[in-house]
Amino acid sequence: MELQSIKGIGDKTVKLFNKLGIYNTNDLINYFPFRYEVIKRSDVNNLKDNDKIIIDGVIENIPNLYRINKKLDKMTFRINSGEQLFNVTIFNRGFLKSSLRIGSVITVIGKYNVKNNSITANDIKLMTLGNKITIEPIYHKVSGLSNKQIHNYINKIIDQETISYIPNYLEEKYHFLDHYKSLNCLHNPTDLKLLKQARLRFKYEELFLFMLKMTVLKMSKKNNLGLKRNISYTELTDIIKQLPFTLTVDQKKAIDMIYSDLNSNIAMNRLLQGDVGSGKTIVAFLTIYLNYLSGYQSALMVPTEILSIQHYHNFLEIFKNKNINCRLLTGKTSLKEKRKIYDELKTGKIDVIIGTHALISDNVNYYNLGLVVTDEQHRFGVKQRENLYNKGITPDILYMSATPIPRTYAITLYGDMDISSIKTMPSGRKPVITYLKSNKEIKDVLNLMYNQLENSHQIYVIAPLIEDNDKLDLDSIYKLEYKMNLAFGKKYNVGILHGKLNNKEKEEVMSKFKHNDIQILISTTVVEVGVDVKNATMMVIFDSYRFGLSTLHQLRGRVGRNSLDSYCVLISDRETKRLDILTKTNDGFKISEEDFKLRGSGDIFGIRQSGDMCFNIADIKQDFDLVLKAKEDSEAFIKNKEYLKIENKHIIDLVKSSSKIS
Ligand code: ADP
Ligand code: MG
Repeated sequence: MELQSIKGIGDKTVKLFNKLGIYNTNDLINYFPFRYEVIKRSDVNNLKDNDKIIIDGVIENIPNLYRINKKLDKMTFRINSGEQLFNVTIFNRGFLKSSLRIGSVITVIGKYNVKNNSITANDIKLMTLGNKITIEPIYHKVSGLSNKQIHNYINKIIDQETISYIPNYLEEKYHFLDHYKSLNCLHNPTDLKLLKQARLRFKYEELFLFMLKMTVLKMSKKNNLGLKRNISYTELTDIIKQLPFTLTVDQKKAIDMIYSDLNSNIAMNRLLQGDVGSGKTIVAFLTIYLNYLSGYQSALMVPTEILSIQHYHNFLEIFKNKNINCRLLTGKTSLKEKRKIYDELKTGKIDVIIGTHALISDNVNYYNLGLVVTDEQHRFGVKQRENLYNKGITPDILYMSATPIPRTYAITLYGDMDISSIKTMPSGRKPVITYLKSNKEIKDVLNLMYNQLENSHQIYVIAPLIEDNDKLDLDSIYKLEYKMNLAFGKKYNVGILHGKLNNKEKEEVMSKFKHNDIQILISTTVVEVGVDVKNATMMVIFDSYRFGLSTLHQLRGRVGRNSLDSYCVLISDRETKRLDILTKTNDGFKISEEDFKLRGSGDIFGIRQSGDMCFNIADIKQDFDLVLKAKEDSEAFIKNKEYLKIENKHIIDLVKSSSKIS
């Protein structure tokens, strides 16, 4: 129902609610307090002026009601707490006068004034709560709308019919409080134990619903008949023999799995995860090659321009003897070129397209898209993934992620996928030797840099900002360019790279760095994902406290790409304890777990931005046991066809709407 249907809510209030993401009564009733304030009954013998007070008492006299003006009334009466008499004043509760009979017991909440031994009440409860505590729900609010108002509006609709998404048999299994009781308890808790039960019910409900959707999605994809290819295994072994290196055991395993995915008639839906530098790209390229052999188009979508350019050149290099028509499409591709590419994609002239988000723009249509690969997958939301997916007939999908995802995230966010992990690093890799230095120690850092340069190696320098900013005392790219030129400019070339450069400039800089025409590349985190220059053996990250551990780990993954000793220097005067973790381990899994612990669920891996993991009340980290239960239950629900047995129309609709299961 519309918010306007609630008495007292006009257009102005609606706008305020909209700011909180509340658009209808259902949103409102599901707007849960983010915390609770527990108020204990006051000790009346120990009151000071202006103390917040909450006491139970018996009404001593008939309340006096004064009408001050049209909008304001004032009521006064006395209560006896058993130990003391108090004068109580309360505004705008005139309508309660008839309920306040002499002798009835009430709870008064307000502020104590020593003068007159009185209480200015902001609320009274007609029945005493019977407990020694009161629990006050606290909502996230917006200026113009108080906690109290939000609470009151919610209570006006708390009796409206709401939908329960937990099937009865599961409700019974866990002895959950019923939906209505739980809802009421969340907004009007009287007892901490009950509140806990109510919260548990809603957490489970939220997780069950999410997992149910995941399960249905997974099943419907499993049921999706995909393209059945007929690629001979020798084609695969032949191309592997021609690669400039031997595949690692895990790379081989991954491509074998993919090979059988492609040759089966079920659509592939696979996540390929592996630490930075573990060699995912080649697995993706081989997949694309197999798809090409069977006559279908492939799309490789990556999150940044620079990465797309690099993949594009690598692809051309690796398959230079094959007759594959591969093209690059990004937001910065010229209009003329774009038109040509659109046309050739549509008519099937292009075999492989590599690019950024531009690949999912509405103008892009494919002739026969058979494979979709997304690199650094966690940066794309589910919607974007689905968007690309929908452009093929039933394309096979390979997602790649360099961020080792803690199991919690993997089974929730990627609950609908098969997973291959690359754990073995290509042989000869050494861990990146990592130092943490303060700004005072910059001389040591410059010395280290000088050594690397003298050994004909190259260096990345990372800055948190592009240009100087008066408000932030940070090193910017341009400032560092000046400093580096001062230190090394006579002998070595310094280049800069950042998101504001245009395509051509970026390509030029990258190409110069690749060919060692630039020895020191100063950059923002745009090099974080995937950039690959083997001769670069050192990275210096200024103001490194500005970055998350996972990001820093990704960044330093740019060096240590061959058997040479490589170095990463983190410069920071702050948060050294956190950063120190990186000096101790090169294990991406450990680091992401640590990041996870430090930052809590939500913001890591840009998941929050993608909006996939925003739960209202559940916290997938804290409530992980519940996550597992919800997953198990939702899978059994589908597998045992429980939805055929239940009468809850809403759940049935949900299952049907997101699947082709009948
Ligand atoms: P990521 O998994 O981070 O995307 P890349 O695919 O960029 O890693 O690989 C990192 C580097 O390792 C690349 O230069 C790549 O050519 C190289 N590489 C990949 N696989 C192997 C291998 N089996 N042996 C040696 N080098 C490899
Ligand atoms: Mg990569």
